[in-house]
Amino acid sequence: MKLPNYIDLAIIGAGVQALTFTTHLLQKSAKHYNKFLVFDPSQTWMSQWQQQFAAQQIPYLRSPAVHHPDPNPHQLRTFAEHRHSELFPPYDRPGTKLFNDFCDEVIRRWKLADKVYPAKVVRVLPIERASGSRFQLVLNTGETIVARRVVLATGSGKVQLPNWVESITSDYPSDKLCHSQQVNLKQHKLTGERILIVGGGLTSGHLAKGAMNLGATVILMTRKQLQSKTFDADPGWLGPKYLKDFHAETDWHERYKQIQQARNGGSMTPEMMLKLNRASYEGKLKIDECCQVRDAQWQDNLWQVRCLDANRHQFNRIWLATGTRFNVKEHPLLQGVLETYPTEIVNGLPVLDEHLRLPKSNFFIMGGLAALRIGPVARNIGGGKMACQRIVPAIVKPSLAIE
Ligand SMILES: Cc1cc2nc3c(=O)[nH]c(=O)nc-3n(C[C@H](O)[C@H](O)[C@H](O)COP(=O)(O)OP(=O)(O)OC[C@H]3O[C@@H](n4cnc5c(N)ncnc54)[C@H](O)[C@@H]3O)c2cc1C
Repeated sequence: MKLPNYIDLAIIGAGVQALTFTTHLLQKSAKHYNKFLVFDPSQTWMSQWQQQFAAQQIPYLRSPAVHHPDPNPHQLRTFAEHRHSELFPPYDRPGTKLFNDFCDEVIRRWKLADKVYPAKVVRVLPIERASGSRFQLVLNTGETIVARRVVLATGSGKVQLPNWVESITSDYPSDKLCHSQQVNLKQHKLTGERILIVGGGLTSGHLAKGAMNLGATVILMTRKQLQSKTFDADPGWLGPKYLKDFHAETDWHERYKQIQQARNGGSMTPEMMLKLNRASYEGKLKIDECCQVRDAQWQDNLWQVRCLDANRHQFNRIWLATGTRFNVKEHPLLQGVLETYPTEIVNGLPVLDEHLRLPKSNFFIMGGLAALRIGPVARNIGGGKMACQRIVPAIVKPSLAIE
């Protein structure tokens, strides 16, 4: 594909949020088909998602079948008409293969395969023109393109590591201490190893299960007690039940507090909890709740770990399922944009306008960074749909546009 000099709309990232956005945009206005391009270094849609699900051997989604990138909520169930065994109770959660096949079908039906330009955006420079403001996107290929509007959909945020990791003074092989995003269960043989997995979210459960299947003994260490929840945030956050009060709240710090309380760190699904408790009973897993690492050093080919309760342990590997954090100030593409279009920032989250724009700009933000408007599910597929309901009107209705 030849890169044009100018495009009306540039979408940065080709994950599930961007895919959701493009289908919702085209549903409202087919004439926008020739007006946008998507940028992603992976060259394809959904690569990050597929890589993570494969690497962590996740059998099915946590969200129900109505959450997917197509505007018609029933579309996935219709697609699964002859594949009922791939919908998992409760709430028909789609199996990983079913969901990936469905997304391929969405990409085909909306003719989106050729819309991804294979490049990483390395800088976004706001420019003022007599005809209105624009953004220059600099790509890792050295090319540039000017866009009238930008939708940022770059996903998962920055990996979050516990403080003690910075205090490790000994050199260690990089594969012996990894964040969950770097773990690929398919690449390991773990027979006889002892592995420390830190974190109490569903990811630590998937990794614990995978490591045990590969022959390891696992110690799962969590700061708090493990929580059992079907979804990561209560479904009331997808509709008026909780969002009515959330949207009525004018204090952004209070909104931030509500987001934190709703997610309350990580949680496990009840069925994962059952599997872990069974493994613990069988002696393949030890669950250390309300426990934290104090320090760790790599010595004699092993991690020597001291915990806050003064206990000492030895491990062959440490995996950190400690999540990611969303912070506009740390986002590599936002520095110049925020200088030109400043906004209040509350614990890393920007205050966006009703249509998820940085104030007075044509710069839209989807995903976890939009949580002060969307609520605790902003980073999820359901949150992506809610973001579309705000962004798409501002793109297709001239009365809502900013020049
Ligand atoms: C293991 C796991 C399981 C999950 N399961 C569910 C679930 O069941 N249900 C649910 O609702 N949510 C789930 N989530 C949460 C969320 O839906 C996913 O994280 C989802 O991938 C977020 O979509 P996204 O489009 O925001 O980000 P991503 O899927 O991460 O996509 C972002 C894309 O942006 C690209 N990108 C980044 N920087 C640049 C740049 N500078 N230039 C160009 N491209 C760039 C990346 O290459 C990537 O392809 C899960 C998350 C994880 C980690």
